[in-house]
Amino acid sequence: MKGLCILGATGSIGVSTLDVVTRHTDRYKVIALTANTNIDALYEQCVAHHPEFAVVVNVEKAALFKDKIKNSSISDINVMAGVEALEFVSTLDNVDSVMAAIVGAAGLLPSLAAAKAGKTVLLANKEALVMSGDIFMQAVRESGAKLLPIDSEHNAIFQCMPAGYVAGDSAKQARRILLTASGGPFRETPVEQLHDVTVEQAVAHPKWDMGRKISVDSATMMNKGLELIEACLLFNMSADDIQVVIHKQSIIHSMVDYVDGSVLAQMGNPDMRVPIAHAMAWPDRFDSGVEPLNIFDVRQMDFEEPDLERFPCLRLAYDAIKAGGIMPTVLNAANEVAVDEFLNERIKFTDISVIIEKCMSKFTADEADTLEHILKIDKLARQKSYEIVEERLL
Ligand code: NAD
Ligand code: MG
Repeated sequence: MKGLCILGATGSIGVSTLDVVTRHTDRYKVIALTANTNIDALYEQCVAHHPEFAVVVNVEKAALFKDKIKNSSISDINVMAGVEALEFVSTLDNVDSVMAAIVGAAGLLPSLAAAKAGKTVLLANKEALVMSGDIFMQAVRESGAKLLPIDSEHNAIFQCMPAGYVAGDSAKQARRILLTASGGPFRETPVEQLHDVTVEQAVAHPKWDMGRKISVDSATMMNKGLELIEACLLFNMSADDIQVVIHKQSIIHSMVDYVDGSVLAQMGNPDMRVPIAHAMAWPDRFDSGVEPLNIFDVRQMDFEEPDLERFPCLRLAYDAIKAGGIMPTVLNAANEVAVDEFLNERIKFTDISVIIEKCMSKFTADEADTLEHILKIDKLARQKSYEIVEERLL
């Protein structure tokens, strides 16, 4: 029986994780669940899974939640408030596995704390890895933590790696990674119309049902850019050895090309419960609740090269990883600000890449040597991004 902490339990990945847990209560016991503000959803999850701890980051919401729990049949659950509580629950002695499913930079500290504490880290929160890079990978190496990718592409690549492969190692006989992408909702939209796309259009992904931030990232293809950087770190490969492939059916979730010419692919229905169940059962396998793939329904699979003019965010991600140092931190911070501004309808869709590019131009690719340095750069890049937005609005 393994103890599980889910950071970001109320989000899309958190909900899918709990769906998998429900099928395997003999293997997993939920120890802690966390949410930012959605206390109604968290309450329902607490009733269903009865964790020892429930964390609400937002302090006012946490007070309301405490009252609700106190007057309920689950009053023995410990309710905690604030960001520090995230690190507390992700490092508890009886927690073996931590699902890192907070969106954005907010997930870095608790995910890193879990890695430092030697937990099995099920990593969905790609922004945490992109912004901290080698610091995160170093923490995993030093503590002996197990790092299992949840992002469907990285989980697919991990599954295609040789037996005994450990994230962070380079698989010597693997010469190339083919990182697949659906191409998002605007794969074929005339470029001149991208300026006017609405939030509603941008968050309506054709293949995957996800949180709002990652849905916008998929529409700009920054999601693939972040995933490119994520893949460089997880599989110890250079960006030149990773080819992004647009595969609109989203059946192949990525491939590994070996020196003998064998190309291994992992396939399945596009449902995040597949990689979640894979990582939770690893090195074993168990049922995810996902329907078997009907290969006859698939019929055809297409593969195209991405158009970097249509998707400048992907080009910027290549620039950031090639420049190295703090550049991925800057890219990630500027993107988080720009996507948030877009979701709040303060900027246009096409402004997202402009803000990121301008922000990146204000930094040099210095070494990212300490966590404090990373956090400082993250803050500075956010300030610069807001300044760029303000200037444009004037
Ligand atoms: P979501 O928006 O649906 O959920 C985010 C979760 O994080 C919620 O539980 C929310 O309460 C919590 N959260 C948000 N801001 C927070 C803050 N400031 N402090 C603490 N908690 C906070 O997002 P999602 O789609 O589940 O994605 C989560 C992560 O997984 C992202 O990094 C995303 O890139 C990655 N991911 C998601 C998918 C997917 O299919 N949804 C696929 C691959 C990777
Ligand atoms: Mg992905």
